[in-house]
Amino acid sequence: MDEVLQQIKQKLDIVDFIGSYIELKRAGKNFKAKCPFHQEKTPSFMVSPERQIWRCFGACQEGGDVISFYMKWENIDFITAVKELAEKLGLDYSRALRSSGTSSNLKSEILGLNKRIANFYSYLLFNSKEGRIALDYLKNKRGLSESIIKKFGIGFSPSTDLYWKRVFSREQISKQLLLKTGVFYARGSEVYDRFQSRIVFPLVNIRSEVVGFSGRVLEDKEGVAKYINTPETEVYHKRESFFGIDQTKDYIRDKNLAYIVEGEFDLIKPYQEGFKNFLAIKGSAITEEQIKLVSRLTDRLVLVFDSDSAGENAAKRTLDVIKDFEIEVYVVRLNFAKDPDEAVSKDKLKFSKALSEPVNIYEFILNLYKQKYDLNSAYGRNSFLQEAAYVFNLIKNPVIYDFYLKKLAEELSLSENKLQQELRFLSRRRKVFTVKPVKDEQKIDHEKILLGIILQSENISSVIDEVFKVLELSDFRTVAVADTLKIIQQLSKTNKELTAQDIFDNLSAELKDFAETAYLYLDFLPSQERRIKKILYYIKILSLKHKIKTITSQSDVDETSLNDLIKQLRQIEQEYLSF
Ligand SMILES: [Zn+2]
Repeated sequence: MDEVLQQIKQKLDIVDFIGSYIELKRAGKNFKAKCPFHQEKTPSFMVSPERQIWRCFGACQEGGDVISFYMKWENIDFITAVKELAEKLGLDYSRALRSSGTSSNLKSEILGLNKRIANFYSYLLFNSKEGRIALDYLKNKRGLSESIIKKFGIGFSPSTDLYWKRVFSREQISKQLLLKTGVFYARGSEVYDRFQSRIVFPLVNIRSEVVGFSGRVLEDKEGVAKYINTPETEVYHKRESFFGIDQTKDYIRDKNLAYIVEGEFDLIKPYQEGFKNFLAIKGSAITEEQIKLVSRLTDRLVLVFDSDSAGENAAKRTLDVIKDFEIEVYVVRLNFAKDPDEAVSKDKLKFSKALSEPVNIYEFILNLYKQKYDLNSAYGRNSFLQEAAYVFNLIKNPVIYDFYLKKLAEELSLSENKLQQELRFLSRRRKVFTVKPVKDEQKIDHEKILLGIILQSENISSVIDEVFKVLELSDFRTVAVADTLKIIQQLSKTNKELTAQDIFDNLSAELKDFAETAYLYLDFLPSQERRIKKILYYIKILSLKHKIKTITSQSDVDETSLNDLIKQLRQIEQEYLSF
């Protein structure tokens, strides 16, 4: 196993590898990017070509090597990541995997079973008596062709569990695993198929794995849910899944545009008619997780809404979700049909025309408010502006902001300045009631910066001398920094040409991890933070203040030491101010 890991790391340069997923920009010795694993506006994701590591200094604080990046990016476990990377590089990994004895790979067991369940449902649709009734419904009532039904793997779960019982007992599939798929539930000592008597759609992720299912009844009945889904499982997370993505991802990439619809049929039917860059969300509003996923394919989304008001609410919720993403979002409203399935069946040309005339989501929502309030009355105007202020507050792009400001100012016969003033006033008032969001950036850690400067410097020994002219080891509040500096100090006594590699080689695993973080942390910060003298004095000041606090908090205050410390502090503070 170790051998395979070594080979993967040797063959994959971390900068090339991560750079093929996200755009990296040079920052000193390292590279910087916006973190792909959490939402942020300023980059805090660092990659080091020398150390072959990455780390996020923002909210998520994640870090690691090529393999851990791949694991996180693809949302897969370690074994799968190693397997896939080895495969890509043409390495022989099978022997290595066997020797490491990893049979307890629950996720891939669930995925494997899901795949077989999907195949079985599909088989039953075409080859059972009940299934053929469902097939007839799909073909004649919903107008789907047989090839489309097969393409999307649509299947049928009959009203009896007899089929399953036979398969389970023959193949000795554990009850536990069956329950873990979410397809089955337990009652007493028996397990039952929750999709009984339903048409079943496999939910296939972007990696073409069957992660779950949704089932629709053949006939709408009161008291019976029209659709049910697999509950959350190890492999199915509703918030991050799109129906259809495995079939439509390439079309979305090609067109750099994705139409977002609600249900399975709203994707499948247009697909059959040649509208292939669609994604279906299983719910009424798109989530942050879904936006993150789709933004790997495109930065342009069009929400296709039904004519009812649920669509409007979804648009408003979408505004909140997209505010931190750099994507363009538009809205299409179908006024001539209840949903895309019906629309494309009714009038393909009209459907196509509607899709080609999307309205920017900000404009869409401002238009809704304009219709809602009487802009000729003072109260109506005020209510409108209050809602508009909220929308404008969410627009982060200055060009778009100015565009709509200008447009709205004209419509309201106000000057742009006056309108902006009012919007600002209203959004400030609103802000009083909202909770301040947690800031993305952290407090700057001076001790860590200092360690970073030392590790990145061309002449480590001379920098170390400079450090210990001002500071002692006891001045450092971070134990890991003090411990690392102690080792560097010792090493530099015997080796005047000490390199960062020498240092890393002499650190324990824990300290090495810490030092690597510090090494990257430096390039994460703006360059003015690198002035070593300022940092040394700053650390000294903090250390003196801490010592003073400790002395004064004791019952028996040592006046001489205290005065001495205060004198030192004054002197250092004066020097610090003169930099
Ligand atoms: Zn992050």
